[in-house]
Amino acid sequence: MNDAGLILHQMELGPMQNFVYIIGCERTKEAAVVDPAWDVPSILKVIRDHELKVGAILLTHTHFDHINGVEELLKATDARVFVHKKEAAALAYSTSVKKIESGDEVKVGDQRITFIHTPGHTPGSQCFYLQDRLIAGDTLFIRGCGRCDLPGGNPEEMYQSLTGKLKKMDDHVRLYPGHNYADVPVSMMGEEKKQNPYLLCQSKDQFLRMTSGFI
Ligand SMILES: [Zn+2]
Repeated sequence: MNDAGLILHQMELGPMQNFVYIIGCERTKEAAVVDPAWDVPSILKVIRDHELKVGAILLTHTHFDHINGVEELLKATDARVFVHKKEAAALAYSTSVKKIESGDEVKVGDQRITFIHTPGHTPGSQCFYLQDRLIAGDTLFIRGCGRCDLPGGNPEEMYQSLTGKLKKMDDHVRLYPGHNYADVPVSMMGEEKKQNPYLLCQSKDQFLRMTSGFI
């Protein structure tokens, strides 16, 4: 399947500049919403405009600013919620939760999405990979990375996630972060490997010193 079959819509919503993503398949019109929050009517408008049908809600992690639209979106759709197993407890109110492990995949029409567990910001943080694109939640930002000093955060795990997994992505992979914190909304992994201070760290000790600045 080439790019032509993929719909990927990025929306900035809410007071914390969250990015919500809509992934759709042009052929089947099936869709997934990543981190629905803040303004579900606006999300549903995009869904309607593209004549899509939401079958999945994908959560990068369960901080409030990423999931506060899940219940409302579930009322409007028949979607299943895909969350990493370490954070499924946050969705205890829903019976349609699918617990994910690293390497699992979900199909949205012709689009195949792979889950990559990237703990550090939270224990169950995960990224979504599809068609040379990485939706990275609060793990990797453009020129930054997620905080590790919130409850459940772990800078050593973040270092492993960044160096052991995300830094190994090909340069041409496009990075779609969880917040609009940079001058541009999308970057390339090759650019981040050259410019992102957290990917440029030469050692774990250096990384731990840098991230301790958050506290
Ligand atoms: Zn977060």
